[in-house]
Amino acid sequence: MRRRKTVFVDADILVVGGGMGGCGATYESRYWGRDLKIVCVEKANIERSGAVAQGLYAINCYMGMHWNENQPEDHVRYARNDLMGLVREDLGYDIARHVDATVHKFEEWGLPIMRDPATGRYQREGKWQIMIHGESYKPIVAEAARKAASEVYNRIMVTHLLMDDARPNRVAGAVGFNVRTGEFYVFRAKAVIVAAGGASHIFKPRAVGEGMGRTWYAPWSSASAYALPILAGAKMTQMENRIVLTRFKDGYGPVGAYFLHLKTYTQNAYGHDYEAFWRDSIEKMVGDYVNHHPVPTCLRNHALLEEVKAGRGPIRMVTKEAFQDPHKETVGWENFLGMTIGQAVVWASQNIDPKEINPELTTSEPYVMGSHATCSGAWASGPEDYAPADYQWGYNRMMTVEGLFGAGDAIGGSAHKFSSGSFTEGRIAGKAAVRYVNEAGREQPVVSEAEYEELKKAVYKPLENYRIGRNEIVAGTVSPSYLLPLHGLQRLEKIMDEYVGGISAHYTTNEPLLTRGLELLDMLKEDLAHLGAEDLHQLQRAWELHHRVLASECVTQHTLFRTETRWPGYYYRADHPKLDDQDWHCFTLSRYDRHSGQWAMEKAPVYHIID
Ligand SMILES: Cc1cc2nc3c(=O)[nH]c(=O)nc-3n(C[C@H](O)[C@H](O)[C@H](O)COP(=O)(O)OP(=O)(O)OC[C@H]3O[C@@H](n4cnc5c(N)ncnc54)[C@H](O)[C@@H]3O)c2cc1C
Repeated sequence: MRRRKTVFVDADILVVGGGMGGCGATYESRYWGRDLKIVCVEKANIERSGAVAQGLYAINCYMGMHWNENQPEDHVRYARNDLMGLVREDLGYDIARHVDATVHKFEEWGLPIMRDPATGRYQREGKWQIMIHGESYKPIVAEAARKAASEVYNRIMVTHLLMDDARPNRVAGAVGFNVRTGEFYVFRAKAVIVAAGGASHIFKPRAVGEGMGRTWYAPWSSASAYALPILAGAKMTQMENRIVLTRFKDGYGPVGAYFLHLKTYTQNAYGHDYEAFWRDSIEKMVGDYVNHHPVPTCLRNHALLEEVKAGRGPIRMVTKEAFQDPHKETVGWENFLGMTIGQAVVWASQNIDPKEINPELTTSEPYVMGSHATCSGAWASGPEDYAPADYQWGYNRMMTVEGLFGAGDAIGGSAHKFSSGSFTEGRIAGKAAVRYVNEAGREQPVVSEAEYEELKKAVYKPLENYRIGRNEIVAGTVSPSYLLPLHGLQRLEKIMDEYVGGISAHYTTNEPLLTRGLELLDMLKEDLAHLGAEDLHQLQRAWELHHRVLASECVTQHTLFRTETRWPGYYYRADHPKLDDQDWHCFTLSRYDRHSGQWAMEKAPVYHIID
């Protein structure tokens, strides 16, 4: 086996992932920890990485407190309603009370925010969204993080966290490899903040084959934010709460600006409003939640899905009226050009001029994330001044592993953070991590050489598998001895799709399906030991697959545990088709034991702090 150089990096605070949460964590850690060594490690390049890489057209979480537009309590009520009652109100409130300050910083750093010419205030797209010229959103945010960090390591994929040799439930750093040079990195740190984004491509996408990169969620979001803490033994929450998006067909172009700003609306193939038609049947499934305003996102998805099943699809967005107004037409196109250029290209290629034709909408495959409209992620300690005792065991945003913090998609229970809220949560985690490091004083975690040497062998094993196995075949890609990352990914997506409630199964599953899905995932996990990687790029794909598989297993365990259908439109437990507030008005928690491979499941109470 080729010898690979090991590079050692010591840090006080290690930030894993330089997206919105990671940049916020890096920036704030420097503010409170002037003399600390703050290191950010990123598998791409923070200049253009993460879900926001391509740009955004709106900041989706802004209160506007100084104009008395909204208060943090209003945002908590909104998120609670959208998530069918289940959110960590302490975490949501904590973000909402600080998010405006974050947005003001973005503007100070050069982000152009549109203003309403009549009021001088930020131009609202909706109650919570403000409109930006956001093509350069990520480079602007990254610049602040770069200036704050002691060092930024780009192009290093973190594969595992390291644990303290003396205290098994304390984090001690992380390992990974440089995807360009192949060097092995050992980061030793007193505190680690995981902000490695959510998970796409765990369910089979609608676009397969050459189009499989065209998903709503960034294809490079590979579940590391979940797999890293899961492997370290951190408790996870609400992992069953996957998200399904209604978006423009084939390009996944966003619909927010269309609904909220352009006031477009949907109708079935025959020109009828269908949402009202399904109201009564939804009420029988979920009770009064359907009468709340705004109607929870999952229930609107549900109405669309039922309408299509009833044979009255396709569902269309009525753009023809709004697009007669040249201003609205410009906004409609710019909305894509600023963040989803692919949708404009799809329309051009399919002869769709939204002024002449009402474009089709469809629902996406499920994704797992904790910062958009769902709550998956790690179970974290809440703010000291606000969280109920059950939600506090240490520092704000610390997971159940000591010294391990998180932000953005990584932290569960607190949906609707979006880009600004994720950055804000990174700041909150950064501040708390600095306090943790300062209070720990000279007491430092110990990294065992045996542990990182063992991990080093495991990390490069796919290259070795390929080198040897390749000799057994003369052509093609199928080998008797190794599994390519792409093949493993397709196998994972098929299992999740068919057994855990993907698009082919109309998002529906049940106990026998989930049980069989877990058996198949187990077999896939066995085969991951035989992954073969042709080069460093494929080695990254191999480790992304490892992370996706572990996160998928967690999603499946949670889906099995929650015996109700809490969010119709996101997924259905056909054997428990109704919402059950009596038994399931609670959070689901899991903990993985990496030694035994077993999962322990439990419930945690939901506290309603705000009336
Ligand atoms: C399609 C889409 C549209 C959105 N639209 C909007 C919008 O209009 N307005 C809005 O406000 N918000 C929007 N959001 C939400 C916003 O993008 C997210 O809330 C935010 O980016 C989450 O921050 P994060 O730090 O958790 O993840 P990210 O910003 O995705 O950052 C994760 C980072 O971790 C890195 N990483 C991953 N794995 C590893 C690893 N193993 N090792 C090292 N680095 C790793 C990634 O490369 C990435 O840089 C949208 C999100 C999506 C997916």
